[in-house]
Parts: sequence; structure tokens; C-alpha cells
Amino acid sequence: MRGNMQIKKTVCLVSGGLDSAVAAAIAKNKGYELYFLFFDYNQKTLKKEEECFLNIADYLTVRETKIVKLDWFSEIGGTILINNELILTPENRRLEYVPFRNAIFMSYAVAWCEALDGDALFFGSTLGAINCPDNSPPFFASFQKLIKYGTKANKLIRVEVPLIKLTKAQVIKLGLELGVPLELTWSCHNFNDKACGHCSNCERRIHAFQENLLEDKIKYGDL
Ligand SMILES: [Zn+2]
Repeated sequence: MRGNMQIKKTVCLVSGGLDSAVAAAIAKNKGYELYFLFFDYNQKTLKKEEECFLNIADYLTVRETKIVKLDWFSEIGGTILINNELILTPENRRLEYVPFRNAIFMSYAVAWCEALDGDALFFGSTLGAINCPDNSPPFFASFQKLIKYGTKANKLIRVEVPLIKLTKAQVIKLGLELGVPLELTWSCHNFNDKACGHCSNCERRIHAFQENLLEDKIKYGDL
């Protein structure tokens, strides 16, 4: 009898990208009920990311999806990911970082998780993303402490970053083993219709598929 067993709940931060889709599939495999969280901060590739988010949510049969609109996010500045007129190139790569974005997103996720009486947050950070400080192991360890001291829940909401020691190529391999439809994910930071192939996210994705000797089924432009 499983009737009295408490179902574990997790809030998954899902961007529509490859890593967060695989992290969510891991949570599903571990038996969690999934609550999917997406942020609309007027990012350049919002349309495609949101479509991917909903498709992945559908594929993993989640309990609830939440799309949070952060109208004020572009007021902060300091990033090129929100400016629709500028194209990302290797020269302006530094501006692909969004100042302290993950801390803002995670704060919302913790609050929702606490309100749901949830158990964990799943976040799709990988080894390759560590050049962003708010994707690093010390950042997540610090956030875990913050949750311990800053929430009223009678259980500790755990920060799960199951991909943090994996390269993008290893994430793709794992995703395929778990049956994640990787063609439903989007990595490009420049365009919504065809991936540009030269932003840092596109480059990492292309190399990772090549390392696995696999064909990436998403569309790339001619750039
Ligand atoms: Zn791109």
C-alpha cells in the first residue's frame, strides 16, 4: 500500500534549455512530483524558450507550470541577453552574463517550494557553466545555507544540482539515456527560429553533440 506515502514535490527551474530539461527528467525519475518554473524577463529568445518550456512540461507530465513575468528585470541592465537590437558575438561575450540572475530566480523558487510544502529545488547547472559565478558549487552551497536560515519550513528544502560535475557532452549522453527529447530544447541566445551557431551557448551545444557523434535535430542558420 502506497496510500499514506507522502509524494515528494520539487520546483524545477526550467529555461527551455538542454541542461534544465535533463535535470527535471532526473527529478521525475527519482519520483518527485514536478512544479515547473519559467521566467519571462524579456530575454531575446523568450518566445522559443517559453515554447520549449511548455513542451518539456508536457513531455514530463508535470503537476503545475508557472510562468513568471519580471517586467522590471530589464531596468537592471548589465547584460546583452535582454537587448533585442544587439547580436551576441565572440567580442561581446562578457555581456551574456546576467547580473545575479540565478539568485533572483532561486529566491522565487524557494518561496514557491516553501508555500507548496515542497522538498527540493532542481537546477540544471553544469560544469561548463561555472564561468558564471551564480552557477558555481559555492553559490549553490551558500544558497542551501540561506534556505536553512531563511525559511520557516519544518524540513530543509534541498538544492539539487545533479549535473554540476558533468560536461555538456555528458549531460547529452545522460539525457538520451533518460529518453529526454533533446530536440525540444533550445540553447541559442540570439534567435528564436534558427539557432545562430556562434553564441557561446550554441558553440557549447554543437561541440557537445559532436563529442557524442550525434546529430542535433534543431535548426541552425547559415551564420
Ligand atoms: Zn546561438
